[in-house]
Amino acid sequence: MPARSQPVSVVTGGAGFLGSHLTDRLLAEGHRVIAIDNLITGNTANIGHLAGSENYRFIKHNVSNFIFLPEEKIDYVFHFASPASPIDYLELPIPTLKVGALGTHNTLGLAKDKKATFILASTSEVYGDPLEHPQREDYWGNVNPIGPRGVYDEAKRFAEAMTMAYHRYHRVDTKIVRIFNTYGPRMRLRDGRVVPAFIGQALNGQPLTVFGDGSQTRSFCYASDLIDGIFNLAMSDYHEPVNLGNPREMTIKQFADEIIRITGTRSKIDYKPLPVDDPKVRQPDITRAKEVLDWQPRVDFEEGIKKTIEYFKEALASPR
Ligand code: UDP
Repeated sequence: MPARSQPVSVVTGGAGFLGSHLTDRLLAEGHRVIAIDNLITGNTANIGHLAGSENYRFIKHNVSNFIFLPEEKIDYVFHFASPASPIDYLELPIPTLKVGALGTHNTLGLAKDKKATFILASTSEVYGDPLEHPQREDYWGNVNPIGPRGVYDEAKRFAEAMTMAYHRYHRVDTKIVRIFNTYGPRMRLRDGRVVPAFIGQALNGQPLTVFGDGSQTRSFCYASDLIDGIFNLAMSDYHEPVNLGNPREMTIKQFADEIIRITGTRSKIDYKPLPVDDPKVRQPDITRAKEVLDWQPRVDFEEGIKKTIEYFKEALASPR
């Protein structure tokens, strides 16, 4: 029987890249964790180490459908379920829209019912192809609602609107984190995102597929830094959206060159067409996170990338 004072957290998307790291952190902080995932992009390999842990329960469920949990006491609901790579949401456009809309409604309803704090995993994609740079939280964005990325961007924008409505109308204690590009162990090798794509290609001796001319920029944050920020946000009393990411910005061509250098591969670069609506620049302004959460990223790029490369080497050696 858990102690009554032990915090209880629900993590949707609990078998995903970030959901599983968040779960590990919450367990380390002494929480009991109920993870929910329908495993369409999540992977049980990310949570295998938790099997049998007395503070952990896994439920295979699609949170776009009603969520029933018998637990009387739930303190935090972290809504992290969603396809999150451009290839995934191109292949799963309707589940992506549903989990951002219906899944957010259901998880907010759960938080309201249990009087829990709600934390929404939102995204830098709410800024679309931004016309302001770097992106601050008060920028409203430049999103094409009917483009192929619109399913993710608009679902998350709706999710933010729904979250603020539950906060203002139902007085639910809500938080919104806008997550910028994040990388680290447990990313899916074939999810199509640039970090696993380039590392996988480099390790296999294949050409690195740079889309467009590679002049578009991204800013990459290591997973453990991001999880620190999310934990601080959950414990804060701040309700407006907060950007979390690493402001260290580079072009995709520079990123490819770094992966070639660090892995020591003989792979060359192969230029491919730029996907529709691919944002030209992206860099978080993290002034708010610094002020409100006393947070900033600590892991430098080379250290984080080396750890990620080690993970992918093992994943390639024992595919799962
Ligand atoms: N990209 C690339 N080659 C790949 C995969 C991605 O050049 O094999 C580019 C993509 O066009 C984008 C950037 O890398 O400009 C980051 O893409 P990712 O899919 O990781 O996520 P995004 O930041 O676009 O959501």
